[in-house]
Amino acid sequence: MKKIIIAIDGFSSTGKSTLAKQLAKKLQYVYVDTGAMYRAVALYTMNHNLINIEDFDAEGLISKIKDIKIHFEFNESKGFAEVFLNDENVEKEIRSLEVSQFVSQVSTISAVRAKLVEQQQEMGVNGGIVMDGRDIGTVVFPNADIKFFMTASADKRAKRRYKELLDRGDENVTYARVLKNVESRDYIDSTRLDSPLIKADDAIAIDNSDMGLEEQFERVFSLVNSRLKG
Ligand code: C5P
Repeated sequence: MKKIIIAIDGFSSTGKSTLAKQLAKKLQYVYVDTGAMYRAVALYTMNHNLINIEDFDAEGLISKIKDIKIHFEFNESKGFAEVFLNDENVEKEIRSLEVSQFVSQVSTISAVRAKLVEQQQEMGVNGGIVMDGRDIGTVVFPNADIKFFMTASADKRAKRRYKELLDRGDENVTYARVLKNVESRDYIDSTRLDSPLIKADDAIAIDNSDMGLEEQFERVFSLVNSRLKG
């Protein structure tokens, strides 16, 4: 059977990665979390003080961009690939609220996007990939075999994300901070000049505000299946 490219885009915390992991497991495809790549660049930027936030001067980051190496390694026990920044596993650090509060600004920088998009396109050359992000169906793989665009109410998304952060033991978070972060990322991601978050014309919209994970998977998988057969 041919190996296709599945693109999943959508707003923050809409469960893109959960769905992408389910699909990749079922189809034995590679799953690539592009948000993790932007998060790793944001972490590097924060650790090296490379952006002057006052006037958002990104020259420091742009001059160091060639020193940022990102790769994924499959973790058998977790069942997904973890992200490495310059050979260090940063899977945990990149999920903090601090990184979440900074990542969308870093993602507006065209030099960052160009570097990561090139790497993402290389990962998909042979198909057999499920990739999630904000610009997969519009910029990274405009010819993807099937595209999904996920939405849910901001309140539902913030509640899910808040629970995730509490489960990880992040004690400083409050629901209000998480909601503010979700809304502010939506705004920056959808209004940036380079590769804004928009639904590709040929993407299938999935609103999962009131949909369980199983129901969502069944629906999406049957659509993918018909594409595989068609
Ligand atoms: O998917 P996740 O929420 O981890 O993504 C973190 C941030 O990375 C997004 O809010 C967005 O600013 C950026 N991003 C992006 N393009 C992608 C994936 C993520 O700009 N393809």
